Amino acid sequence: MTVNIDWDSLGFQLTPAKIMYIATVTPGRPWGAGEFVPYGPFSLSPAAGVLNYGQGLIEGIKASRTQDGRICLFRPDQNALRFALGAERLAMPPLPPDRFVEIMVEMVRRNQEYVPPVGLGSLYIRPCLWGTGPILGMGAAPEYTFSVYASPVGHYFKKGGIVPVKFEVCETFHRSAAKGMGGTKYIGNYAPTILPTAEAKQRGFSGHIYLDAVHETYIEEAGIANFFCVKGNCLMTPQLSDSILPGVIRASVIELAKKILGMEVVEARLAIETALTADECFCTGTAAVVTPIASITYQQKETVYQAFQTGPRTQQIYQLLTKIQQGILEDRFQWLVDTERHYAYSM
Ligand SMILES: *Cc1c(COP(=O)(O)O)cnc(C)c1O
Repeated sequence: MTVNIDWDSLGFQLTPAKIMYIATVTPGRPWGAGEFVPYGPFSLSPAAGVLNYGQGLIEGIKASRTQDGRICLFRPDQNALRFALGAERLAMPPLPPDRFVEIMVEMVRRNQEYVPPVGLGSLYIRPCLWGTGPILGMGAAPEYTFSVYASPVGHYFKKGGIVPVKFEVCETFHRSAAKGMGGTKYIGNYAPTILPTAEAKQRGFSGHIYLDAVHETYIEEAGIANFFCVKGNCLMTPQLSDSILPGVIRASVIELAKKILGMEVVEARLAIETALTADECFCTGTAAVVTPIASITYQQKETVYQAFQTGPRTQQIYQLLTKIQQGILEDRFQWLVDTERHYAYSM
């Protein structure tokens, strides 16, 4: 089957794939079987916990075609674990991680024609867990809905390959507090960044780099992506904390840099001043992949990297990651899950 999509001009807009998944659970009982149904709206109580008190969690996972004709998910087990931890923190019933992976595999199988051709993009899968039962007094919802939809996507920040983007350090707002929720894909983390991000875009930036809320000195991350900088043979990234999202691509880039490129990797507090003297900077995420940073503006001063071009280390890391995802390089860390061969034992 084919669908009428212009693969060459894919950005990060929603183009819903035809099938979505939906399952509900009452706390204390096992998850229901759930069902794969045509993509579309569903009804929700006005008193749903998610609408009133923000009890909600998201994930983001990609499936891509490989050169030899497979369709593979990238490390869905990692998203499954993070999703279960986030659910527990938000007092929601976690989905068993194996089950989560099976549902991702089946979503891809049922939406195969929405997976872009090799190298033109991926199928982005968005699992959500919401408190959908009605609740008035502040507390945990009496029922939860796990829903999954998908959309083919291309590049997040700019169309047309690996293009360096400009970032601004956010000096008026903190994304995440110490001991806060920044380390989870809690839905409430995102709405507060919409206005500052829109304002940064009006000033010509692609987004913000956020500093830690305590000292306003150390880089945390780039809004929806983790931050890295390169100095000589050293790759530096902020060490994880409860205010930094533990990215799957972050962890993968660290492995590639250590084990394939032989770089020294430093995970520690990373002062903005240190990053401003780096050779190269980039940010990583499922959506952002590896996005080179052209410049960082901090206290009205713009620091430019690699004359606005992609630096050599950033280029290497991007190539390694995307060539593994496309099956061009050997998958030596066993990151890919072949959606045709994966045995659906729990469904
Ligand atoms: C999703 C996300 C990332 C990137 O995580 P990946 O697992 O690499 O996709 C980074 N920061 C924030 C705030 C995120 O929501």
